[in-house]
Parts: sequence; C-alpha cells; structure tokens
Amino acid sequence: CGIVGYTGREAAAPIVLNGLSKLEYRGYDSAGVAVFNEVENDIDIVKTKGRLKNLLEKTDSGKAMPGGCGIGHTRWATHGAPSEKNAHPHCSDDKMVVMVHNGIIENYQELKDHLTQKGYTFYSETDTEVAVKLIAYYYEKTDHNPLESMSRALLRVRGSFALGIMFKDRPGVIYAARKDSPLIVGQNEGGAFIASDVPAILSYTRNVYYLDNMEMAELHEDSIRFFNMNGDEIEKEMVNIKWDA
Ligand code: GLU
Repeated sequence: CGIVGYTGREAAAPIVLNGLSKLEYRGYDSAGVAVFNEVENDIDIVKTKGRLKNLLEKTDSGKAMPGGCGIGHTRWATHGAPSEKNAHPHCSDDKMVVMVHNGIIENYQELKDHLTQKGYTFYSETDTEVAVKLIAYYYEKTDHNPLESMSRALLRVRGSFALGIMFKDRPGVIYAARKDSPLIVGQNEGGAFIASDVPAILSYTRNVYYLDNMEMAELHEDSIRFFNMNGDEIEKEMVNIKWDA
C-alpha cells in the first residue's frame, strides 16, 4: 500500500525504509526492498511478511543492501495471501525487470493465460507478477526499450497501478507510471525520489511533481523526465510543498 524509491548519491535502502515507515499509517501486511548492487551487477531483493521492523532486522536497517538506487513497498494484499513470496518487489525470472505496485490489475488472469502460453511460469499468486512479466515480455520484444515496453504493457492492463520499476541493464535508473493510484516524484541536490504520498519523502525534499494518469517518469540521480503513453516527452510543473507532515 506504499511505494518509495530513490536514486542518487546516498545509500538508497535506508532512505527507502525510512520513507516506508512514514507510510505505515496506510496499513500493510508485508514489505520488501530491491537495491541495485553495483559490485555484483545484480538487483538484490529482500522481502518479509509482517511489520517493517522485520525488514529492518533482515537488512541491518538497510546497511546490508549497499547501492544508490532502490525501490521499496508495503503491501496490502488484494490477490494472493499475505506471505513473503507474494510480497513485493516482484520480478521477471532473470531479475531483468523488478517492480513494486500499488493497485489492482483486473484482467490479470487473462494476461496470465496469455503469458503462460508463451512459456512464462509464475512463482506467486499476485496480479503484480503478471504485470511485471508482461513488461519483461515487451522488454525482450522491443530490444530492451524501457518506456516502450512499459507503455505497451500498461495499455493492455485494466485496473489501477502506481509502479516503481528497475531494469537490470539500466543501473541507477528508476522508472515510474501510474493510473488511478497516487504517485509523486521528488528531487533534491543529491538525487530523485518516487513515493505514493508526500510524507514519505518530506524530510528529503519539498520539490515534487504529481504524476497524472497514464504518465511515466524516468529518474536519474541528476535529472527527471516525463512521458505520455505514446512515449512523447512532456513538461510537468514542479510543486513546492509548504506544509509539514
Ligand atoms: N494487487 C497487488 C497485490 O496484491 C498490490 C497490492 C497493494 O497495493 O499493496 O500484491
């Protein structure tokens, strides 16, 4: 039920975990975090059932997951029981695409049948795993074009989503998209953020962009770009948050 992501000069995991703790009021049954590990050239994923405290213990408050780019999630299960396996982030088999999701993919069964016919297998009961594998399918098909694979997948999805996505061969970059579930993008001197709500990142920045329905964002340490589902770049207005959480 909460999403936080960070890419920048600081260690990502502690920022993501701290941000998630600010969203605890929304309720959740499990939590997880993914960080790009530059030494291994891989994406590390750690998930737990239950309180964020369990995730903090399992990751030594994030210190066990070095790297400046990461995404995290607190889950309010809609499809698949609360469990470690069903917790986010979810990924394609080779961890080429790793994703956190708030919302519901209504036509997930139909998409799952389609992907199963193409040889995909599923390790969880979630609607989210279907969506990440659909993006992975198009990632292959488009010769590893992140925005095109996202838009082609998301135009086939019915339902609601706020998404944070990392691609293994795009280190340091976070992609985001949304429809009918809230998602904001933030920026400070050191990096860029995504979050499902302002309090998650308010202690790091007051400069945010509100993603609108069917918009995508590409976040680098020092730049943020926005796109519509045709892949056209769009201009967005930065909002300065005046209030305190
Ligand atoms: N529908 C997804 C799931 O059940 C996401 C739930 C959420 O928004 O936390 O895993």
